[in-house]
Amino acid sequence: MTPGVRPLIAGNWKMNGTLAEATALARGVAAGSAPAVELLVCPPFPHLVPVAAALAGSAVALGAQDCHAAAKGAHTGDVAAPMLADLGARYVILGHSERRADHGESDAVVRAKAVAALAAALVPVVCVGESEAQRLSGEAETVVAGQLAGSLPEGFAAAGGVVAYEPVWAIGTGRTPTEADIAAMHARIRAELEATFGPAGATLRILYGGSLKPSNAEAILALPHVDGGLIGGASLKAEDFLAIAAAAG
Ligand code: PEP
Repeated sequence: MTPGVRPLIAGNWKMNGTLAEATALARGVAAGSAPAVELLVCPPFPHLVPVAAALAGSAVALGAQDCHAAAKGAHTGDVAAPMLADLGARYVILGHSERRADHGESDAVVRAKAVAALAAALVPVVCVGESEAQRLSGEAETVVAGQLAGSLPEGFAAAGGVVAYEPVWAIGTGRTPTEADIAAMHARIRAELEATFGPAGATLRILYGGSLKPSNAEAILALPHVDGGLIGGASLKAEDFLAIAAAAG
């Protein structure tokens, strides 16, 4: 944790669940929220409005999993950042490794989307992380520093932007880096944020993501510069998600 920074525990629901499951999950998360930790859920696009309704009156924030770089126009199948803000989203995940892989999103694309998010007053949660081959060849920190340089726009720090460090090989696999490797990467990300944004970079939240679960959350979330988590699989059960949040608080 970074002293004085309120942790963020974010659930990335990905492309999962029925409408009934999504609203039940949202109600379960809302029932367990606690003030020490900020909770965020990011359902698939079709579930955003009903989940917003299920969260009404709670402190749980709503986010989306992507947005387009343009504010409107002829982009069939895409969703614009102002649309997300209009329906109550406060955050948007950008540059998740699944989008970088499935949709060929480059750092430049992620940066353009982050610019659009900021213009719509959404807080971008920009994901970075190395592949297993890059980790094994000792390039992990250089790769992540390059992703940060290419993906984070001007204005990111002023808007309280969030960085999520998610090693690609740890997502959904049950494997995690060693605590020493997580701590080293988060320290490097902090240094890059301070070099780019000055003192504002010292308090931006840096989340860890990749097979975070109740059994490993306490140890990982206690590491320096780990200011919360981005959680996939374990965010689909309110009980597990809230157990991770309790470990952060
Ligand atoms: C993710 O995809 O953002 C993620 C962290 O997934 P999981 O927790 O399932 O590894």
